[in-house]
Amino acid sequence: MRLVLLGPPGAGKGTQAARLVERHGVPQLSTGDMLRAAVAAKTPLGLKAKEIMDAGRLVPDEVVIGLIDERLNSPDCAKGFILDGFPRTVAQAEALQQLLDRRGLALDAVLELAVDEGALVDRMRRRVDETVAAGGEVRADDNPESFRTRVEAYRAQTAPVSAHYAGRSQLTKIDGMAPIDEVTAAIDRALSAAVSRG
Ligand code: ADP
Repeated sequence: MRLVLLGPPGAGKGTQAARLVERHGVPQLSTGDMLRAAVAAKTPLGLKAKEIMDAGRLVPDEVVIGLIDERLNSPDCAKGFILDGFPRTVAQAEALQQLLDRRGLALDAVLELAVDEGALVDRMRRRVDETVAAGGEVRADDNPESFRTRVEAYRAQTAPVSAHYAGRSQLTKIDGMAPIDEVTAAIDRALSAAVSRG
């Protein structure tokens, strides 16, 4: 199963991706996680990406396209994958198409978790509180100012990606305001429909 999860920061992509990993046995490819790993390891890429990410802006397309290109070669991607946080620009969506074409692969579905923008900041705050309560490390970009930049980047650069897939009749919208289990059930239904459409 090859799937793209779209949705603004705080939409619940990570939560749903983790459930899909468990249910379908395919890896979650999160460019955000890959970049945070590079930042933590202080690789040359991580050192360059850190400032951009902390501010809530997008890192250059070629950087994340390179990460995904390399990751798709891993044996664990042979059965499929869940792309979480990629593609985030139309240029990335076009590059993804080329990466898949080159491998003779196609996406089964593109799912967008639709959430009211007004709910996003509250979700981010809750995540910060939960992380602090659990003794974890709060993401540097989970502060009000960077979060606002992330939502703006989503609106300007990623919302057109939804339109891109909608124009190709590949997009399914899921109500991301519903309770977590209901979102999971709606995703399952959308995937069954996509698979039976072939
Ligand atoms: P969220 O979905 O909560 O905003 P992510 O973990 O997906 O968080 O991304 C965190 C940051 O990593 C983004 O704000 C951006 O700086 C960078 N990033 C992740 N994926 C991409 C991408 N596909 N293109 C450009 N930048 C990205």
